[in-house]
Amino acid sequence: MAENQGNACACSGAPTLIFACSGAADVGAVADQAARGLTREGAGKMYCLAGIGGRVPGILATTAAAGKILAIDGCALDCAKNTLEQGGFAASAHVRLSDMGLEKGKSPASEENIASVIEAGKAALDAAPELRT
Ligand code: SF4
Repeated sequence: MAENQGNACACSGAPTLIFACSGAADVGAVADQAARGLTREGAGKMYCLAGIGGRVPGILATTAAAGKILAIDGCALDCAKNTLEQGGFAASAHVRLSDMGLEKGKSPASEENIASVIEAGKAALDAAPELRT
């Protein structure tokens, strides 16, 4: 996603960034697809969690300028939220699929499951405070 670095429009306010755990489990796939769906719908922009873990300077700088940060985790291990915190960022919104009844190993990346997480992500972002005002 390097082509997106520095492309945030300065006149439209601080961007909303979306980080999914994108884990190997089915719920990780649902989280990943929901983040992509939220991006397609214009709710924010999926961004690279691995860049936070790898301390990639451009990704850290873009994340530091975010207006809202949504973390989407497949299960209670909260890998996305914790990776952000290790990088010095607090998610302003958090969706955990296991809290929505999506059980690891029993929750395929179906259209229905992805749509429900997209809706939860939208609601969480609507309720989230702006990180910079
Ligand atoms: S939050 Fe759960 S599903 Fe997501 S990467 Fe971590 S262990 Fe895997």
